Amino acid sequence: MSEGAPTNWGRTVPAGGRRSAEASSFRFLAAGRGLPGGSQGAVLPYGNGRSYGDSCLNDHGTLIDSRASARILSFDPETGLVEAEAGLLLSEVTRLAAPHGWFLSVTPGTQFVTLGGAVANDVHGKNHHVRGTFGRWVRAFRLERSDRGPLDCSLGENTDLFRATIGGMGLTGLILRVTLQLLKVPSLSIDETTTRFDALADYFRLAEEADGRHEYAVAWIDSLASGASLGRGHLIAGDHAAEGSLDGTARPPLTSIPFTPPVSPLRGLALKAFNEVYFRKSPAGTSRRSVAFDGFFYPLDRIGAWNRLYGPNGLHQHQSVVPFQDAERVVRALLECAGHHRQGSFLTVLKRFGPAESPGLLSFARPGYTLTLDFPHRGTRTLALLDELDALVVSAGGAVNPYKDSRMAPQTFAASFPEWRALEAMRDPAVLSDFWRRTAMTLAAHDCDDRVVSFKCAGRR
Ligand SMILES: Cc1cc2nc3c(=O)[nH]c(=O)nc-3n(C[C@H](O)[C@H](O)[C@H](O)COP(=O)(O)OP(=O)(O)OC[C@H]3O[C@@H](n4cnc5c(N)ncnc54)[C@H](O)[C@@H]3O)c2cc1C
Repeated sequence: MSEGAPTNWGRTVPAGGRRSAEASSFRFLAAGRGLPGGSQGAVLPYGNGRSYGDSCLNDHGTLIDSRASARILSFDPETGLVEAEAGLLLSEVTRLAAPHGWFLSVTPGTQFVTLGGAVANDVHGKNHHVRGTFGRWVRAFRLERSDRGPLDCSLGENTDLFRATIGGMGLTGLILRVTLQLLKVPSLSIDETTTRFDALADYFRLAEEADGRHEYAVAWIDSLASGASLGRGHLIAGDHAAEGSLDGTARPPLTSIPFTPPVSPLRGLALKAFNEVYFRKSPAGTSRRSVAFDGFFYPLDRIGAWNRLYGPNGLHQHQSVVPFQDAERVVRALLECAGHHRQGSFLTVLKRFGPAESPGLLSFARPGYTLTLDFPHRGTRTLALLDELDALVVSAGGAVNPYKDSRMAPQTFAASFPEWRALEAMRDPAVLSDFWRRTAMTLAAHDCDDRVVSFKCAGRR
């Protein structure tokens, strides 16, 4: 990463003036040498900047570039155990392991994520209902702390730090290397089953059964459909094909967005037309086909720099999870709320999380249904909508995803993660992020009331 302006994926936060440094300088900078403010909050580990919000940014300090340390240290094709430096991308793990019949046990929707970033956010994938989160497959890691030096962490050693670091958003120190258990698979080709459904109630009827039968399952929702069609979409399930390719090299992107258009094309009639065409793309009922792993897991990676399509003001991704009971009502209310505000989400995804517990102290994924909405940033209008979505989620006992956020109120964070003080107690004193400053540190500084007052969707007419 070059000196200058590392950014986050949503690009809603201005990216000027933030410095970066290589992993080897963590100890030097964390000691506060040469910094006017001393070591407090001097540094933050940075992976590949695929976090949508400001949890990967540190406006007041230096970002430590993990990508500079990305060597594979060992790989056992018999056991599927891989050890690598934390800056290695998931794409590189797949390329190494696939020819031997191994794949990532859990993968997010982009493969351009580092091992360190995947641990720090305890990311989830389309198979959460079977495998849980990424952190469940981490056997050990080495963590550099400004106050304690390098420490080996696992469920049997430095257990508290192991748990706090998984989902700890980089705040517990710099992960140097990770040992990961991969998943044995017959091939990387995916047998995909798509079921088109006409209304939200149909999704809730189909989702649990699909989870029981398939390794992967996720739904695309046409967020612009309303009335009886509200929540219509496709339930896309998949399994590794018994016979197929063992090539883990993803195809190059189909295209790349060369510049940021002055106005986002993802709005109004264009957005509605896209959703309509996409909905009709799958025939009614259930259809089956065989697809390559990159198209199934990483469709957005096929368009380089696609986030530029959201225009110069960037995008907000609002991801929430709500408990099983009442989930249908809450998801309906969230979709209706976006509709009342006349702000369509370009890409809307609904998924059922399973019961598998993460070892992480502050992990986002938990049993329930998770809805992900993408909105171009249109100033206060969008911020008001997002606040209302937060209130609906929190009043239903759910949580809003912190590593996709750049604007939630401290109280929303506290209600989503009542255990946040336990992470603050384990934080490396030299490490801080913009996200932690504006949520946890604000709560701590003002001794804020953690409760959130719920309110109705003001966009309702
Ligand atoms: C197209 C797309 C699809 C996505 N799909 C999903 C999905 O399905 N599920 C999901 O959970 N997420 C998803 N995400 C989010 C993404 O997977 C996570 O934000 C991921 O953690 C980003 O990793 P990164 O390497 O880019 O790290 P960054 O974004 O740079 O940093 C992420 C966090 O990790 C910390 N960190 C990075 N490296 C280290 C290190 N060496 N030591 C300690 N801490 C470190 C940082 O401080 C920061 O808090 C998606 C993102 C995109 C753009």
